[in-house]
Amino acid sequence: MTRRLVWLRADLRHIDNTALLAACQESADEVACVYAITPAQWAAHDVAPVRVDFERRQLHALRHDLDALGIPLLMIHVPDYAGLPSALVDLARKHDVSDIHANRQYEVNEQARDVNVQQRLRAAGVTFHLHEDQCLVPPGTVLKADGTFYSVFTPFKRVWLQRLEVAGAPPRPAPNRRRSAFTQSDAVPDHFPSYPAAVHTSAADTSALGTATAVIANAKKIDVTEWWPAGENAALDRLRQFAATCIRNYDTQRDFPGHDGTSRLSPYLAAGILSPRQCLNAALRARSSHPPGSNGVDTWISELCWRDFYKHVLVGWPRVSRHRPFRLETDPVRWRHDKEEFGRWCEGRTGFPIVDAAMRQLNATGWMHNRLRMIVAMFLTKDLLIDWRWGEKYFMQHLIDGDLAANNGGWQWSASTGNDAAPYFRIFNPVTQGRKFDPDGTFIREWVPELRHFDGDVHDPHSQGQATLFTDYPPPMVDHSAARERTLTEFQRVRAL
Ligand code: FAD
Repeated sequence: MTRRLVWLRADLRHIDNTALLAACQESADEVACVYAITPAQWAAHDVAPVRVDFERRQLHALRHDLDALGIPLLMIHVPDYAGLPSALVDLARKHDVSDIHANRQYEVNEQARDVNVQQRLRAAGVTFHLHEDQCLVPPGTVLKADGTFYSVFTPFKRVWLQRLEVAGAPPRPAPNRRRSAFTQSDAVPDHFPSYPAAVHTSAADTSALGTATAVIANAKKIDVTEWWPAGENAALDRLRQFAATCIRNYDTQRDFPGHDGTSRLSPYLAAGILSPRQCLNAALRARSSHPPGSNGVDTWISELCWRDFYKHVLVGWPRVSRHRPFRLETDPVRWRHDKEEFGRWCEGRTGFPIVDAAMRQLNATGWMHNRLRMIVAMFLTKDLLIDWRWGEKYFMQHLIDGDLAANNGGWQWSASTGNDAAPYFRIFNPVTQGRKFDPDGTFIREWVPELRHFDGDVHDPHSQGQATLFTDYPPPMVDHSAARERTLTEFQRVRAL
């Protein structure tokens, strides 16, 4: 009989969890899971309070699922990653553990943490096993013929689809029930430290955020625990529901934030409550029941490919984890650092209704529709010319699905510093984007109460000289054409260097 630990990180589930299944291969072995509470690390990594709370709620549900399998869930408390090697060695000694299993994470700090943990465990006679689990095709396995990483999505996807046929294993069930003599730790998820939003708003470069709460208070009241229920069953229900309905028209509906056209599974994928294999499997099963010629499923699988692609970028170009642009030639861009203007963007008071509605959705729910993420990121970086790193940070501090790879990829794409094949002069016009993707203004009216009863052009309300009818709503904070010229001039200056 051997005793093994499974260290849960971004994989808070008991079904189709590669590390957990590896630890549970022998039914005679005793297995426990462990989760590390690291508040200083969360703050250093800008983890949103709404995300921490989501994980806390998920751990409650997971503890119940694991208990039924005879697998206790233990907790260790350390401020940050530096404390983990000793804490894990102590835990292994206390419980006489021979092996610790975990699923690999690809961010620079997480990789360094795992190297330190591995060395200390080895010295203590404990074997540390890392498994590939987070992606459909592991980073570093989709390479060009010369062995280098793809920097552009389309050729990456072509090879990724071939690899998927070979490597795309179906999801696996939960491990079998076992007898456990592990003693439960007395540190349970209830003892999560309080992790206030103030941790983030005190950051020097985002100090203009102090007033954001005033606007949030004025917005729709949302119960995030209802929007984002914890538990693998909740995640699987959402996946089943999406695969049975919206996925069929995903290709035509996904860009309209006023419709329920996307899966809203990103928080579950980011915390690992759902595996990408479960998603792929549900999509493939849905495809077999759809009429020929419907492209919804393939388009959705493409999104899972984007998810893998940005993790692949993180591994191929680790500098993007360190606040550096993917395109080094864009380093000299003179981004602006105007706190007052940044604060208006954060609060949803830019005077551009689609931008403001989107930011208020983020502030209230911890989530934003993909089309809107592109619009607001493009607005901050191209209309305001504000540093994309400020926007990236604000997103991480507020997203329930915050994920370094996808967030950094999305921000650098929008700022034209990243893996986008399109040139820097692609600049969205926020008014046109609103007209195109929220044509009847449903989404804007839902999130901007000042415009709820306005029956003029809700996308450009001040243009018709009716400002007195809705004085609460600010006029546009910039002239889009002039702002566009300013950005083009700056990028052209950098190109000429
Ligand atoms: P669906 O449309 O149903 O897609 C299914 C899944 O595919 C998503 O849940 C997600 O896991 C993945 N996915 C979809 N689009 C992308 C994409 N462009 N890049 C990577 N993965 C994708 N996604 C995050 O998970 N975390 C982030 O922190 C994040 N930050 C972003 C920041 C910006 C500026 C932009 C433009 C995009 C960002 N995205 C991020 C990607 C995308 O916006 C979200 O994944 C998507 O909106 C989640 O909604 P959904 O679950 O309904 O997605």
